[in-house]
Amino acid sequence: MKKIAVLGSTGSIGTQTLDVVRDNRDHFKVESITANSNIDLFEQQIKEFKPKIAVILDEKKYKDLKKRVTGNIEVITGTEGLIHAATMDDTDLVISAIVGIAGLIPTYNAVLKSKNIALANKETLVTGGRLFMEAAKKNNVKLLPVDSEHSAIFQSIGNNPKDTINKLILTASGGPFRNKTKEELEKVQLEDALKHPNWEMGKKITIDSATLMNKGLEVIEARWLFDIEAQNIQVNIHPQSIIHSMVEFIDGSVIAQLGLPDMKLPIQYALTYPDRYVMKGKKLDLTELRALEFYPPDMDRFPCLKLAYNALKQGDSTCVVLNSANEEAVSLFLQRKISFKDISILIEKTLEAHNMCAIKNINDIIDLDLWSRKKLNEIYEMRCNLC
Ligand code: NAD
Ligand code: MG
Repeated sequence: MKKIAVLGSTGSIGTQTLDVVRDNRDHFKVESITANSNIDLFEQQIKEFKPKIAVILDEKKYKDLKKRVTGNIEVITGTEGLIHAATMDDTDLVISAIVGIAGLIPTYNAVLKSKNIALANKETLVTGGRLFMEAAKKNNVKLLPVDSEHSAIFQSIGNNPKDTINKLILTASGGPFRNKTKEELEKVQLEDALKHPNWEMGKKITIDSATLMNKGLEVIEARWLFDIEAQNIQVNIHPQSIIHSMVEFIDGSVIAQLGLPDMKLPIQYALTYPDRYVMKGKKLDLTELRALEFYPPDMDRFPCLKLAYNALKQGDSTCVVLNSANEEAVSLFLQRKISFKDISILIEKTLEAHNMCAIKNINDIIDLDLWSRKKLNEIYEMRCNLC
C-alpha cells in the first residue's frame, strides 16, 4: 500500500489522480490533500478519501470547511499547512499538482524530507530547477514526471545511459491557434484561447498551450529533469497528440511513447512506477488514424517559445522572471485586461528590465518572483496610461 499526498487535489491533475486512486483502492491510501478555495469539491474528496490532513489555503473558506468536516481529519490552512501536508512521516509519494510557483515551497520541502515526487507542477523546475535537482540528488529522491511529454521521455530513455542520448524531441499539439496568421492572432478572444483541441486542463496551462509558453516551460523542465542542454532539446508540432515525445540516441535510433491524449496514463505510471497496472478505457488503435503530422514551431507567430529558449540560455534568474511574468500576464488575460498578443509583449518587456543575478536559495526565487510581478504590472499600467 503506497501512502500518498495529493497537493492540488481539486485541480485537473488532482482530480484525475484521485480517479486513479479510486480505481486502485488496494494499492493507494491518501494521507493528505490540499486545495486553494473550491471547498464544495474539497469537502466531497475529504469525505470520500478520508485523509489524515486536509489543507485549504484560502483562510476565508477555512472556518466554513472546518465546520463541514468531522471525525479524525485535521483541517488546516496557510503555507505551513501545505508544507505539513507534503512532509508527513508516513507519506511515500507526493503528487505535486498545484498550479504555478505556489507549488514550489511545499514540493521543495517534500524533497528535503526525502519524499519521492510525482511532479506535475512544472513551474517548480522552471524557477528552481538547479536547486531542486541538487536537493533531490542529495536526499535520494525519485522524481517521476507526470507531464505527458516528460513521462514519454522518461519511458523512452528506460535504462539507456545518459551519454547515449543525442537529443530530446518534445511534441506539442500547437494549441487552438496553430493555423492562425499573425493578423488573426491579434483578434483572438479569451473563449477561443480556452478551447484546447486535444486536452482538458486548468485555465493557466490552457492559455500557456495557446501561446506555446507551455512548451517553452517544458523545454526548461526537460533541461533539469534529464540534465540535457537547451540546444539538444527540440520542439516538434504534432497536432494529433499521439506521440507524447521522443528520444534520439547517438546511433540515430529514435524511441517514442504513444498513447491516447489522456493524462490519467502518465499520472498512473508515476503512481505505480516501476510497475504497470491495468487501465480501464479506450486504447490507442493506430488503424483509426490516417496520419501523424510533424512540423517545426513558428517562433515568429508564437514568440513565447523563443523567450523561454532565450531565458534558458541566459541563466537561472531569467527563467524565474520568465515564469512569474508569464503567470502575471496570463492572469491579466484571464481577467480580460489585456489581449492575447499583449501576453508575450509584457513578458518580453519585463525580461528586458531584469538584471541577471545569482539564485542561491529559495528566498532568492521568492524575492525575484515578487519583483517580476510588480514590474510586469508597472509596465502594464504605463501602457494603459499611454492608450
Ligand atoms: P488547476 O488549475 O486545474 O488546479 C490547480 C490546483 O492547485 C487546484 O487544486 C487549486 O486549488 C490549487 N491551487 C491553485 N492556486 C494555489 C495556491 N496559490 N496555493 C495552493 N494551491 C493552489 O491546474 P492543473 O491543470 O491541474 O495543473 C496543475 C499543474 O500541473 C500545473 O503546474 C500544470 O502546468 C501541470 N500540468 C497539468 C496538466 C493538465 O493536463 N492539467 C498537464 C501537464 C502538467
Ligand atoms: Mg505537457
